[in-house]
Amino acid sequence: MSITVLVVEDEPAIQELISYNLKKSGLTPVSAMNAEQATVMVNNVLPDLILLDWMLPDSSGIEFARQLRRNTRTQSIPIIMLTAKTDLDDKVTGLEAGADDYITKPFSPRELIARIKAVLRRRAPEISEEIIEAGGLKIDPTTHRVFAYPDDRDDEHTEVKLGPTEFHLLHFLMAHKERVYTRTQLLDRIWGDHVFIEDRTVDVHIRRLRKVLEKIGKDYLVQTVRGTGYRFSSEYNMNSEEQQQQS
Ligand code: CA
Repeated sequence: MSITVLVVEDEPAIQELISYNLKKSGLTPVSAMNAEQATVMVNNVLPDLILLDWMLPDSSGIEFARQLRRNTRTQSIPIIMLTAKTDLDDKVTGLEAGADDYITKPFSPRELIARIKAVLRRRAPEISEEIIEAGGLKIDPTTHRVFAYPDDRDDEHTEVKLGPTEFHLLHFLMAHKERVYTRTQLLDRIWGDHVFIEDRTVDVHIRRLRKVLEKIGKDYLVQTVRGTGYRFSSEYNMNSEEQQQQS
């Protein structure tokens, strides 16, 4: 899975240096020279992370970060600010504007990559390749396999066979367990945004996923939150069971 990093930086030399190092680490860079270009790009395709220069020719990086945080479609994109300023006040302003981290210029490519990976692990665990275990399920994104562990015996496990969409759905929900996602958010994050699919498609795949989990008595893990959306929770929830029967 390719991880796209939008680099918003007006200095060509720095832009080039960053792009080179991102590619070397297996990330896919896309470049914007100013906030206006970046806005157009974000409107087309949501990147997985934005590296955002503080000083831009048109609007400040801070203003752009605030703009992204105000919009529900873009509010959860991880942002790392690039700044030449070492002043503590500026860092605080950056974090208050919604940046997840900041890097002070000049920076080493190794530090840059390490920080990007740390922010991605924290903010977008579904794009990491780490195995996740929760609620008696174990999901492995590299091999695309899911295993279930019976509640009373931990030595025996069975493989859970899922279609590709159900796999991504389960992986996303497990990576953000206990958090509730709306159908629109799930469409954006799993199907990719600007894909014209109806919200109901999400319900169809949730139903398929639950049907498979039902066979091993674990359909309660994928819960409906009435009026909001869905979540993965290992806490057994009576309400959600009633809702599932209704849906
Ligand atoms: Ca600049």
